[in-house]
Amino acid sequence: GWFLPGLLACSAKGCLLSAQTVRVWLKRDGGQYWPSVFHTMTVPCSCMSFNPETRRLSVGTDAGTICEFILSEDYNKMTPALTYQAHQGRVTVVLLVLEMEWLLSAGQDRSFSWHCSESGQPLGTHRTAAWVSGLQFDVETRHAFVGDQSGQVTILKLEQDSCSLVTTFKGHTGHVTALCWDPGQRVLFSGSSDRSIIMWDIGGRKGTAIELQGHHEKVQGLCYASHTRQLISCSADGSIVVWNMDVTRQETPEWLDSDSCQKCEQPFFWNFKQMWDSKKIGLRQHHCRKCGRAVCGKCSSRRSTIPLMGFEFEVRVCDGCHESISDEDRAPTATFHDSKHSVVYMHYEPTSGTLLTSGADKVIKPVLPVVTFLTPPA
Ligand SMILES: [Zn+2]
Ligand SMILES: [Zn+2]
Repeated sequence: GWFLPGLLACSAKGCLLSAQTVRVWLKRDGGQYWPSVFHTMTVPCSCMSFNPETRRLSVGTDAGTICEFILSEDYNKMTPALTYQAHQGRVTVVLLVLEMEWLLSAGQDRSFSWHCSESGQPLGTHRTAAWVSGLQFDVETRHAFVGDQSGQVTILKLEQDSCSLVTTFKGHTGHVTALCWDPGQRVLFSGSSDRSIIMWDIGGRKGTAIELQGHHEKVQGLCYASHTRQLISCSADGSIVVWNMDVTRQETPEWLDSDSCQKCEQPFFWNFKQMWDSKKIGLRQHHCRKCGRAVCGKCSSRRSTIPLMGFEFEVRVCDGCHESISDEDRAPTATFHDSKHSVVYMHYEPTSGTLLTSGADKVIKPVLPVVTFLTPPA
């Protein structure tokens, strides 16, 4: 079956990709979207990027080409402009950086490349560890953030025709499925099929990485509302989580290693010597999510949410930590919404405060509970 590989909205207009057509939807009075112009492609579309200032729409395809269109001022006409021969195989992400006149893209051929968006000429290319599923760019420092299927995020410093590897972020146990960069706070968010989101605090310069656990299924999309400092994430089960990022969050502790419970000192099952010496039965090792101590089941029988550590669901904590967590500490820092379809793509448009989702059911929905929750800018 076909799917909706992309969805973009700019103030009152909507833009949509479906299998082999690119469709523009206009938002009419009353909030309904009506179909406007569409273009039929010769090959299936796979991703897109839209620049509202220039009304330039870049559409990646299964054949490795990127086709660019200019939309008329009234959004009733789309004119083909440029075609880039960018990749061997499906284009997975595309991003127009107007300030640099660069079109960044990555493909299933495991390459990341950038082209001059004025001439269409290739400028440079970089081999990636796996195929890329998330791409963001920081204009100020010219860093590209490239998230791939191996679970890592590669940071590349781009020059006009060369690039250098700055570092890689490794924190996910599954694929990186989405990236979101906030240039104001200088924070990068990565979402993964391991159901977690990691906030990489680059601006803080301390190497802080904060985990956010609020999804039961793989995370498929991320958007950041910078004016309200809210992160919006969606997952395959249709849930949308709106995270308050205007709170001081804490890193989760490293898990400590021990041969015996760090509370009651009973030996763990592999500690034969102590089991023999003290004639005690070996116990299974668990870890308290708050302090990271290695504890036995009996000393960690309680569960709690720890919202400031990103645990919006109840997790195992040791008895001491359970007592130290107050009701105030348990106040949720996120709200949960059900979009009632498996979201494959999501777009947040800050000027109107509209969140649009497209699902595996091929339906596009404005998500009202989230829109009401998100405050549009004054
Ligand atoms: Zn114990
Ligand atoms: Zn503890």
